[in-house]
Amino acid sequence: MVKGMSISETRLADTAAALPRHDWTRAEVRALFDLPFAELVFRAQSVHRANFDSAAVQISTLLSIKTGGCPEDCAYCPQSARYDTGVRAQKLMPLHAVLREARAAREAGASRFCMGAAWRSPKDREVEDVCAMVEGVKALGLETCATLGMLTAAQARRLKAAGLDYYNHNLDSAPEFYGNIITTRTYADRLETLERVRAAGIAVCCGGIVGMGETREDRVGMIATLAGLRPHPESVPINMLVRVAGTPLAGEPPLEALEFVRTIAVARIAMPRSMVRLSAGREDMSEETQALCFLAGANSIFYGPKLLTTPNPGRDRDRELMDRLGMTPMEP
Ligand code: SF4
Repeated sequence: MVKGMSISETRLADTAAALPRHDWTRAEVRALFDLPFAELVFRAQSVHRANFDSAAVQISTLLSIKTGGCPEDCAYCPQSARYDTGVRAQKLMPLHAVLREARAAREAGASRFCMGAAWRSPKDREVEDVCAMVEGVKALGLETCATLGMLTAAQARRLKAAGLDYYNHNLDSAPEFYGNIITTRTYADRLETLERVRAAGIAVCCGGIVGMGETREDRVGMIATLAGLRPHPESVPINMLVRVAGTPLAGEPPLEALEFVRTIAVARIAMPRSMVRLSAGREDMSEETQALCFLAGANSIFYGPKLLTTPNPGRDRDRELMDRLGMTPMEP
């Protein structure tokens, strides 16, 4: 019970906290980050339980359908053609190979299959190729997600017509930090693509990356911006920077694990009905940190040994961790 409140007042406050709001101020988000750790995690778990089965985890598998050679300069990304990271540029995968991977993902328990292509913005004929993949993956009974860079309104509508359920386009960080990380497209470009995806009727997967040298205030700004989107993104991936040799961020000091857990908890409270996804960076995270993230309201993971080009815990290790935590895959 919150100090100074009766039980019924506390329940009312709890119910209100579990409802989505879009008017989060930075001061409110900052105040959440500043809470004592146990209080923050308790509040996040309460909001989580009001909206979700606390033992269920949504499982997504991510496949790089077109790797490397990207003209953009995202400072964290090994797929940018500007950095020497040892990632070999590859053409778009053929349809049959993508469907083979999708079948394997389904058999391993995934409910959503995400296809990522390292493009600044796809050409219309490339969108057609991806549409064939979306149709094929959908026919396997999986939810579909794609991340292809910036889209035109017509391309977004075409993908929707093919059956695309989700489109991933991350905001990456706070507007004021973004320019330190990417110079080849603006924050406004990103927001525009998100609007086009929404207008086409596709659900939005949108989050960011922490540990890129940003301040806590930048993390506050990122969550406040995400929570200001109407509606909230249905999925909110929170990535821990994977420091890949050859990228400009390779030498960044790691973000403290508890600060990562705080970011997850604040995202859960600010976007109570979104899937908050533990994304990149799990490979270097202890099981205890991951367990704390679940306690703080994370309820989605990427599953499979690779995340685009960076390593991810193997399926067996993940399954074992889920079993030990008593967590079960969420139905699509
Ligand atoms: S994050 Fe995407 S857009 Fe940026 S360099 Fe990597 S593949 Fe290109």
